[in-house]
Amino acid sequence: MAGESRKRKVGLLYDERMCKHDTPDGEDHPECPNRIKAIWAKLQLTGLAQRCVVLGGSKAEDKHLQLVHTKEHVNLVKSLSTKKKDSRRNKIASKLDSIYLNGGSSEAAYLAAGSVVEVAEKVAEGELDCGFAIVRPPGHHAEADEAMGFCLFNNVAVAASYLLNQRPDLAVKKILIVDWDVHHGNGTQKMFWKDPRVLVFSVHRHDDGSFYPTGDDGDYDKVGEGAGEGFNINVPWEQGRRCGDEDYIAVWDHILIPVTKEFNPDLILLSAGFDAAIGDPRGGCFVTPYGYSVMLKKVCVVFSVLIGLAWFFSPELLQYVISQLMEFAQGKIVMALEGGYNLGSVAKSSLACVQVLLEEKQIQDSFEEYPYESTCRVIEAVRKRLCAYWPSLADELPWEAKTPSSPTSSSSSDDGEEVLESTFIQEAKLTILSIRYKKQAESLRASLEVALEEKAALQTKVAELQGEKLRLQDKYAAEAKEAAEKLTHVSSELREAKIDLDFQRELFKKANEEKKLLEVRVLKLEAELQQEASDKLRLRISRDRYAAEVKEAAEHLAKVRSELRDVQIDLNLHRKLPKKAKKVM
Ligand SMILES: [Zn+2]
Repeated sequence: MAGESRKRKVGLLYDERMCKHDTPDGEDHPECPNRIKAIWAKLQLTGLAQRCVVLGGSKAEDKHLQLVHTKEHVNLVKSLSTKKKDSRRNKIASKLDSIYLNGGSSEAAYLAAGSVVEVAEKVAEGELDCGFAIVRPPGHHAEADEAMGFCLFNNVAVAASYLLNQRPDLAVKKILIVDWDVHHGNGTQKMFWKDPRVLVFSVHRHDDGSFYPTGDDGDYDKVGEGAGEGFNINVPWEQGRRCGDEDYIAVWDHILIPVTKEFNPDLILLSAGFDAAIGDPRGGCFVTPYGYSVMLKKVCVVFSVLIGLAWFFSPELLQYVISQLMEFAQGKIVMALEGGYNLGSVAKSSLACVQVLLEEKQIQDSFEEYPYESTCRVIEAVRKRLCAYWPSLADELPWEAKTPSSPTSSSSSDDGEEVLESTFIQEAKLTILSIRYKKQAESLRASLEVALEEKAALQTKVAELQGEKLRLQDKYAAEAKEAAEKLTHVSSELREAKIDLDFQRELFKKANEEKKLLEVRVLKLEAELQQEASDKLRLRISRDRYAAEVKEAAEHLAKVRSELRDVQIDLNLHRKLPKKAKKVM
């Protein structure tokens, strides 16, 4: 496929709902919602998000969470948002180590775990080449039965276990988990302690067990148990506060890369905490965004090599071929955000990593290896402890890591050759140190030059500002005079307006009095009208009654008249009867 440039499909998962997990009373906390907002804003502003496949979050299923967590723990996190738990959340949190909880914690935790599962599944299926799940709360401290260290569910462990146990069809049989968060991934280590299918690699500050999470769990002699023996690799910094790019790159070159080549994973999950970044308030290390991108690139390169090329490049050649090989990389890589609390560093480091995932940045690996002596010691100790499981770790290192013994205290101090050798080692170390200091001096000189240029620019700016200040003083004096005149004018207008207002008030008062008088008159007239109306009504009723009586009298009269007529007829009849009788007689 050489020569053909297929665009890598990089998944980017961001879901605003994961910001709902916050401190209960809005107190400041390093693990704050702005962490993922800052990353997302950076990726959008730089146009990188637009070149990725953007995904929304999805919630994890209980049965998948229970692959690495106890049922009780899953149920506890699930119930955190219920009303019943409202008053008890602070009490629950106070019993846990470095945990805060609010009403949004449950949803965010389910989304964080489910989202890493989603991206890992899509990468394993081949739908995506690789991806970055920008999730919170983080996960690598969460243990099977306990939330701790800002972590509720172990997001990366859930995803690894899901692919291995629930999706045999995807043929992911071996997973490498690389945890470069500055804190030891104690939860992940315990979950795969006896599992040879998962190689857990964690590089972290240990400081003799005094750095969080304190104790011996993160030491290099913790290599796993039973079938999983040799599949847990810890690289504990002795004095992490001073570690930088060179130390991490040395660990990559002399531990992680050779072991990864032997392990030959089907998929890589990155517990990508950025709290070893420069400027992080909790980590105290000095890894630059460039350093992170080189670390990521080296992991990608392993796959390029595993698909057929031999792993025998010199570091110099590697510097050149890395960018060439990236084009053909088959690296199935899923990054999941863990820690990292300086918003600027987290955003810049994420940007650098996504650039590598997109293969859009030519990384010229120009690191010369001058790691700290303590780093060399740790690398040698880890290799010695693990070389029985990973033969490539038994190879000779390119540098001597042991502290040279003093010629006077050595049992063979009088042996000329050994003294010579010891002196030689001492000189070599001094040379390395002088190169390191020379590099630092060069870097400081460059910074000084930049600072001097900035100082000159600032002086010019100060002179400009002084001129501007004088000009503005004159301008403001003229404006002040004008304003005073305007004020006098306005005052006189105001006085006149006041007189006007008094007159208007007087008029208004009079009008009001007249209005009141009129209202009284209106009321009186209304009463009179009402009286008149009621009189008229009474008269009409009387008239109607008289009319009825007249009608009745008329009817009575008519009746009397009719009766009278009848009587008259009768009378006439009676009068005629005697006459008739006389005639008859
Ligand atoms: Zn951390």
